[in-house]
This record gives sequence, structure tokens and C-alpha cells, in this order.
Amino acid sequence: MAIIMRLLARRPAVRTLEAACAALGDLTPLKRDCGRLCAAACCQPDETGLNGMLLFPFEESRYRRPIEGFPFRLVDDDTLFKGGKRLVCEGTCTREHRPLACRIFPLRIRVQSDALGDQAHCVAEPDPRAWCVCPLLEQGGLRAMDQAFVAAVARAGDVLIQNVSMLEALCSEQRLIDEMRRL
Ligand code: SF4
Ligand code: SF4
Repeated sequence: MAIIMRLLARRPAVRTLEAACAALGDLTPLKRDCGRLCAAACCQPDETGLNGMLLFPFEESRYRRPIEGFPFRLVDDDTLFKGGKRLVCEGTCTREHRPLACRIFPLRIRVQSDALGDQAHCVAEPDPRAWCVCPLLEQGGLRAMDQAFVAAVARAGDVLIQNVSMLEALCSEQRLIDEMRRL
């Protein structure tokens, strides 16, 4: 039964991911290549060689086969949801195949709603995990970034929360981030 549910959930989730990527288009944190500011710090492997980006639900279906010009591997990671995957790369990829988490970095998507849980919508906020690598956060955070990018990240979030798998993953990440902030 679980397998059937998963199969049924996959197609709408993949369509939602595609729509979220379309909402972002080619927008990046700055109008110019921000990687020149920091030698693409967020793409460099750390000393463990295991850091990487958490994939959204069913996003791993885009990475079943090797992709030319984009060396990567997938590792299991249940941080956000059971059966989750993390993509570990070698520091180069093509925009077309870039995971969604990389496309929105150094921002993250926060889901907001009223007290009854209605009127849900998304805002973009700096990802606290980016502070250790991304100079844009120290240079003013959201204000330092292209406002079209900031707005597009929120729009991508509004697309994602139409899908229950994505909504659960975003809420799970939000709980973790909020716990981190309380520590
Ligand atoms: S660390 Fe920040 S400034 Fe550097 S490439 Fe990544 S997003 Fe751009
Ligand atoms: S997948 Fe691409 S954008 Fe993401 S960390 Fe690797 S090289 Fe950078």
C-alpha cells in the first residue's frame, strides 16, 4: 500500500517541482554572478566530502542517471522526511539540472498562515545555515539581493505548498530551523 501511495504521489510532486523551478526562472541572488564574490563558496566540498543539498520530495527522480558535466551522488538523509535524499556534488553543475535548494540558496522558504492555519502563503528569508558560507548575508541579507530573486523564491514557495508532500517537507524544515534558532 505504501508503494502505491508513493507512486500516486510522485507525478504531482514532480510537476509541482517543475512549476516551482519555472517560477524562479533564471533569477539568481544578484543580477551578476554572485559566485565571483566568494569563489562559489556554497558549491565547494567541505572536509568531510559529504555536505550537499537536501532534495525536496521526489526530486531524486531527476537524478536517476548520470548527467554529463554534473558529477554527483545521492545519499540517504531523513533530516526532513523519511526516505529523503541529499545530493552531494563536486562543485560544478548545469543550471538545468540544479537542485531546487541550490536555486533558492542562500534563502529559504517560510510558510506563513493565520492562527487557524488558513491563508497559507510563503515568504523568502535568509537561510541561517548560509551564514557560514555566504557573504551576501553579512552584506545586508535580503536587502543585498536582487528583489526580483527574493520575490521569485516566495512565488516558488507558493507553488510548492499546493502539494502536500512539499508542504510537509517545508514545515518539517521550518520546525528544525526554529529549533536551531532557539538553541
Ligand atoms: S555563497 Fe552566496 S554569494 Fe557565494 S555563490 Fe553562493 S549564494 Fe552566491
Ligand atoms: S549542485 Fe550545483 S549549485 Fe548545488 S552545490 Fe553543487 S555545484 Fe553548487
